Amino acid sequence: MVGAKKTYNFCSGPAMLPEDVLLKAQAELLNYQNQGDSVMALSHRSDAFLEILAQAQQRLAALLDLPDHYRILFMQGGASAQFSAVPLNLRQNNLPIGFLDSGYWSQKALEEAQKYAEVDVIASSQSSGYLKAIEQADYQLSKPLSYLHYTPNETIDGNAFYCIPNNQLPNGQEVPLVADMSSCILSEPIDVSRFGVIYAGAQKNIGPAGLAIVIVREDLLARSQQNQQAMPRLLNYATVVEQNSMANTPPTFAIYMANLVFQWLQQQGGLEVIQQRNQAKAELLYQAIDSSRLFVNNVEKNHRSKMNVPFSSQNAELDAKFAEQAQQQGLISLQGHRSKGGLRASIYNAMPYQGVEALVQFMKSFENQYV
Ligand SMILES: *Cc1c(COP(=O)(O)O)cnc(C)c1O
Repeated sequence: MVGAKKTYNFCSGPAMLPEDVLLKAQAELLNYQNQGDSVMALSHRSDAFLEILAQAQQRLAALLDLPDHYRILFMQGGASAQFSAVPLNLRQNNLPIGFLDSGYWSQKALEEAQKYAEVDVIASSQSSGYLKAIEQADYQLSKPLSYLHYTPNETIDGNAFYCIPNNQLPNGQEVPLVADMSSCILSEPIDVSRFGVIYAGAQKNIGPAGLAIVIVREDLLARSQQNQQAMPRLLNYATVVEQNSMANTPPTFAIYMANLVFQWLQQQGGLEVIQQRNQAKAELLYQAIDSSRLFVNNVEKNHRSKMNVPFSSQNAELDAKFAEQAQQQGLISLQGHRSKGGLRASIYNAMPYQGVEALVQFMKSFENQYV
């Protein structure tokens, strides 16, 4: 199907990586740039690794058009460790933390934050069954908050915000906006200057699981410093910045892979090009679902995720049969999340258009067989 690889992988994460990236890593695996050993076995203090780290930071900054007053941190523990790190770093003066609750991962973040501070659910789409995200008209901030947290793309529920939420108080002051971009980072251009903190687990759009990318607006590091004594050292943003993401041995191989993915994105033409491709893939798939006699996706149309597309025949047995037969055709990992059932196609940056075409074709033949 696709060169050396024989499948299209629709897993929600760890997700498929660009084949070019894997081939490059393979070619360099035993002897990284004549260093005499694998990049996995080079000291994190070596010039070779420091160069990788610097490149990864520079490339990510270039891709995101990062303003100067933001810092890029490479951390460990995936996105979930950030569910603890964000409140521990940013909580302030006993102010509550605001949450926009749009699904499974919003809930996870909220439950963890509750351990460390008062949490205020500013708006929730739970009553819709999370079939939509939150809209501007759904809420108005009325009192100060430590920060406002949201999940722009809900990986499991398959909904997405279509604009950056309002973080202004009635007096015009802004509360820092914090976004869990695990499943949408680098899928389209974003205006970083609107955010206080952006974080993302790497395993969806960036690289191997375990690594987390954190982007922090510099002024918020003062809060981090204030909270330094009362929290784990490795989670403290000020410490991580001061140590250039090497507060302990960093996940060197994961950072190396992330750097290759950033390079690949630049070679593709950057985030505008990627956005167009992602748009085309999502349109193809949703159109196939909406015109299908068998499959449905009930997420409100203008809130549909371009990264994670849940769908179902509304018959558990038939869904299972679909996932199994698709697997035999090389279309792998289409079963839905264990909490939700059904089917789900994750179509991140690395999924080629042809992969979605192959899926759509298989959906049609399956439908003809069973309807
Ligand atoms: C996958 C995911 C997480 C959890 O990531 P881990 O790296 O497993 O901790 C959190 N938030 C969102 C939006 C995700 O998609």
